[in-house]
Amino acid sequence: MTRNDLDVLIAGGGFAGLTLAIALRQGLGSAFSVALADPTLGTSRAQDAPPHDERASAIVAAARRLFETIGIWEKAAAEAQPILDMVVTDSKLGDALRPTFLTFAGDVEPGEPFAHMVENKLLLDALVAKAHEVGVDLRAAAVKDFSRDPTIRANLSDGTAITARLLVAADGARSSIRSAAGIATHGWSYGQSAIVINVAHARDHHGRAEEHFLPAGPFAILPLKGRRSSIVWTETAVAAERIMALPDAAFHAELEQRFKLNLGDIKVIGARRCHPLGFFVARSFVADRIALVGDAAHVIHPIAGQGLNMGLKDVAALAEVIVDAARLGLDPGAADTLERYQRWRRFDTMAMGLATDGLNRLFSNRSDVLRFARDVGLGLVDRLPGLKRLFIREAAGLVGDVPKLLRGETL
Ligand SMILES: Cc1cc2nc3c(=O)[nH]c(=O)nc-3n(C[C@H](O)[C@H](O)[C@H](O)COP(=O)(O)OP(=O)(O)OC[C@H]3O[C@@H](n4cnc5c(N)ncnc54)[C@H](O)[C@@H]3O)c2cc1C
Repeated sequence: MTRNDLDVLIAGGGFAGLTLAIALRQGLGSAFSVALADPTLGTSRAQDAPPHDERASAIVAAARRLFETIGIWEKAAAEAQPILDMVVTDSKLGDALRPTFLTFAGDVEPGEPFAHMVENKLLLDALVAKAHEVGVDLRAAAVKDFSRDPTIRANLSDGTAITARLLVAADGARSSIRSAAGIATHGWSYGQSAIVINVAHARDHHGRAEEHFLPAGPFAILPLKGRRSSIVWTETAVAAERIMALPDAAFHAELEQRFKLNLGDIKVIGARRCHPLGFFVARSFVADRIALVGDAAHVIHPIAGQGLNMGLKDVAALAEVIVDAARLGLDPGAADTLERYQRWRRFDTMAMGLATDGLNRLFSNRSDVLRFARDVGLGLVDRLPGLKRLFIREAAGLVGDVPKLLRGETL
């Protein structure tokens, strides 16, 4: 039976919202009522409703452990491409040779790759299917507005009125819940955009990811299943706009100049997409009976492919905090419960956000002095196996106070 007086209402059915709903349902069972509202659930993503998101994401080892634990990895595994090694270069656009400064072998534990590349749609479909299977109450509607007197009273766009002890904003970077709760953000735009495309190529990539640092920003080649790769190509916003508008042949020439011919002939498959890049962190991850997760709480530069992985860390921490509180009979929306979540996640997020910001500033420029300094630094890291191992475990999400789900433990 559908209930409109809930323990938790989640706004947003992207990666963050769906994962949280499943984890809460699995951790607390049907006695704890959770509903998730998202207007796009009605458009049946499973039937490939346009516009089809052809983006793929690097899912790091900790996030993969979470997906395994909630039971959705099995479906994705056959199509997931492990990243078996990674090469980092630093050169100018016209350079004939791209000297390699850093290489990573891909395992965090023997036989456990540090990350997999997976198409977003595949994972989202698996999450929706699992949410149905475990009985999450999915509503194809937006959370329109809400008040707090003293619990949450929310109105959905389909006219339903809902009360809840906690409202979770998983409604993405332009979160209307965050704004309505009066939570400001601090951050900045990079004046850069990422052109995202998939390409088919004649030769095997052998699971190798490549990050080419060019003066306009990183050009990443990330291996997909088969002879295909996902490209995340950073340019200044002005240059990206010009390149996006090019006819196919001219676009191809620009692409080939950066991709080179190591993998043989290349062909763009699917549509070109362009994302303006910025960095922000919410000034608070919580407010009275509200918690922010995922892009609603933070957006970072995709230079290290960590945005979604950070959102999943929020979800794992919030799910653990709520489950612990509910098992003790405590209120999941109480201030001290939410404060525990905020303490767990906000500092870590700021540290990762600033690290990716620093990386982008260090690499996206034309200074020869900086280029020399960073190349010496990269060369040093490459020669110190202990440091390299620490870097790779950090990037895989396995360092620090890691929530249970990301360690592969059930709640
Ligand atoms: C170019 C690029 C490459 C990237 N690559 C990677 C990568 O390799 N690895 C990685 O970890 N991350 C990557 N990221 C980041 C990652 O894509 C995002 O962090 C992630 O998709 C955010 O998920 P989310 O669930 O928080 O938000 P979203 O995916 O934005 O989901 C928000 C949902 O909320 C819904 N919604 C909005 N308003 C309402 C409302 N009022 N009521 C109800 N529902 C609402 C929307 O319909 C949407 O479904 C990349 C980002 C970019 C731009």
